[in-house]
Amino acid sequence: MEDVANVLIIGSGPAGYTAAIYAARAGLKPVLYQGGQPGGQLTITNDVENYPGYPEGVNGPTMMMDFQAQAERFETDVRYGVVTGVDFKKYPFEVTVDEEEVVNAKSIIISTGASAKWLGLPSEERLNSKGVSACAVCDGFFFKGQEVAVVGGGDTACEEASYLAKLCSKVHMIVRRDVLRASKIMAKRVMSTPNIEIHWHTETEEILGESEVEAVRVFNNQTGEKTDIPIKGFFVAIGHQPNTNLFKGFLDMDESGYIVTLPGSTRTNIEGVFASGDAQDKIYRQAVTAAGSGCMAALDAERWLAEKEMA
Ligand code: NDP
Repeated sequence: MEDVANVLIIGSGPAGYTAAIYAARAGLKPVLYQGGQPGGQLTITNDVENYPGYPEGVNGPTMMMDFQAQAERFETDVRYGVVTGVDFKKYPFEVTVDEEEVVNAKSIIISTGASAKWLGLPSEERLNSKGVSACAVCDGFFFKGQEVAVVGGGDTACEEASYLAKLCSKVHMIVRRDVLRASKIMAKRVMSTPNIEIHWHTETEEILGESEVEAVRVFNNQTGEKTDIPIKGFFVAIGHQPNTNLFKGFLDMDESGYIVTLPGSTRTNIEGVFASGDAQDKIYRQAVTAAGSGCMAALDAERWLAEKEMA
């Protein structure tokens, strides 16, 4: 058991490191556990062109190393380790790292992010970042004027398809049923966009191409008929999974597992526990919005600690 941390940050994506930068500059000496994927989702992205301040774009892993360096410059204690358990019923809060070490903290900032769900095809993994993506806003630009496919029929898929339809010559939506799960307004939008073609009852068999995506082989799940659709970009939009299992039973969450925060803040239902980034945001999910909410979490934690000390 070691000393009690003022602020313990769980996760090392843009939300976690931004929270660290702000908490450290406020003199709180934050401790940050990086988790199983140091740097978070951006470390599996090649070029980030929509993060303000990088006019030429930046490589995702490089950007996350910069975030870390900035957090460490202000003496954030960045540690390797995966948080495997929490006890928010105890105070100071108890956090277990790598199933053995127990660390105590006066306040917690959760920035564990979310993970895109994938189809699980070998070709999808092989061609990841070579035409296969789970983020149209991040990667759509690379397929300007070309044909792409989007898999899924929910709001995310419709949003991705609508976004891509403005950039690409044609968008093929691959939908496994004969209806869209998406809200009516989103469904109507994609169905009335001339360069979006919906392939109903269709599933992906394989993505074709050696070093880059060349086509997708789909099959009709009613007739078994196979078709190869030539495309350059393949976007998987079958949902995201917030990385919040750890906090079940302690924190209020919506039906998909996103942590519920008090509107306009990062406060959760437990005083002293704050949530930022994709773990609590299923709408925007951008690096810059995650960073913004990480900043909010650090400010909320700082104020909460100050109020508590005065009480
Ligand atoms: P959803 O779970 O709502 O939809 C997932 C879609 O992917 C469904 O059409 C599903 O098909 C399909 N799917 C799932 N697994 C597979 C698979 N293995 N192969 C092929 N297709 C598959 O996820 P979303 O990310 O779209 O949305 C999550 C939540 O976030 C929703 O509540 C949504 O409303 C919300 N959201 C809101 C937005 C907004 O308000 N602007 C924007 C984006 C999301 P099936 O229907 O057959 O199960």
